[in-house]
Amino acid sequence: MNATLSARAVNLAPSATNRATQRARQLRNDGADIVTMTVGEPDFATPDHVTDAAHLAMRHGHTRYTDVTGIDTLKQVIAETYRQQHQLDVAMDEIIVSNGAKQVIFNAILALIEPGDEVVIPTPAWVSYSQMVTFACGRPILVPARLDDSFAPDPERLAQAMSPNTKLIILNSPCNPTGGIATTETIDAICALVDRHPNVMLICDDVYEHIRFTRDPPPHPLRDVPELRQRVVAVNSVSKAHAMTGWRIGWGVGARDIVTAMARIQSHSTSNANSIAQHAAVAALTGPQDHLATRADTYRRRRDLALDILAATQSIHSPTPDGAFYLYLATPSVLGARTPSGTVINNDIDLVDYLIDHGVATVPGTAFGWSPAFRISTATDDSTLHTGCERIVQAIEQLNCNDT
Ligand code: PLP
Repeated sequence: MNATLSARAVNLAPSATNRATQRARQLRNDGADIVTMTVGEPDFATPDHVTDAAHLAMRHGHTRYTDVTGIDTLKQVIAETYRQQHQLDVAMDEIIVSNGAKQVIFNAILALIEPGDEVVIPTPAWVSYSQMVTFACGRPILVPARLDDSFAPDPERLAQAMSPNTKLIILNSPCNPTGGIATTETIDAICALVDRHPNVMLICDDVYEHIRFTRDPPPHPLRDVPELRQRVVAVNSVSKAHAMTGWRIGWGVGARDIVTAMARIQSHSTSNANSIAQHAAVAALTGPQDHLATRADTYRRRRDLALDILAATQSIHSPTPDGAFYLYLATPSVLGARTPSGTVINNDIDLVDYLIDHGVATVPGTAFGWSPAFRISTATDDSTLHTGCERIVQAIEQLNCNDT
């Protein structure tokens, strides 16, 4: 049967990260020697006390539907983290637990965006924001940052991108794909912008908050500008910090009416997040936290290792990230370059195809709304990182780039 697909389904691009990872997997299955640097998840195991809590939850019969917005114990623990980190009192009906931060953001966008509403997204940005906005029939307005500003979101450019149709700004710090952490000045300027536009909301995607190489916690609107809290939806999850990507537990904190609307949407899609994983998330948030610092140290060491190797070519430019586990590698001089076999590199998709022919899978910058560039993940062991970065350098050095 030839089904007529909805325009909504047809207009949605598949996740570029998943696509790149799948392609690498296929080539490997066919016997190719490919180093995969596409994956955006920790290569560590979920801590034992978390898996133990899941076993216990199953044995105790926590295997039924829960409230759509999550079990009280988890919501209390989440509220406590906001009290500790942001000195903020969050009521239980201002919290929703969902299937990962991804569903929280999806719910929030569906709850806030009317057809034609504009969502301002500083780029480079996580691949899913603009697709989710498109799915909600909104218009993503991408605002590219400057490489010579280390890809920091530029509040002035954001202000210029705003229109009477702007409904939402999405901020992600530490950022996927750049690893950049927004400074207090940037946060203050973005909050001032939101403040000047009474209909505009701010989503703060904090999923990499614990993967940072700075001592101080990243500045945050909820802590620095608490008077804006009714206009902020803060999003977080256990995925990256606690190596729990497969457990699918994330949460959103926001104004009561928005959270209620998000819950209505979720009640008709997935209902609650997995009951066992919710109990495991309680253990993750209340149990030992020392792995956060040790793992962040490992990610920092890997960042340095990769940057050292990549410094061998002048055709790659990367600011040194302060967090997350990615490097966003700008390659302005490769456009128009020729490969040894004579193919012209016209864009970063061509570049990523060329790199995969050299045995390394990466994600093209086009997917993150900032080109020409590509992203590598450093959430992998030293030897893979070493081989992958060396292959990148060798491949790029074989292009006749215009580096003068
Ligand atoms: N936000 C950003 C910036 C991400 O990079 C990701 C995952 O890659 C998510 C949200 C989704 O995380 P979760 O696994 O909690 O759904």
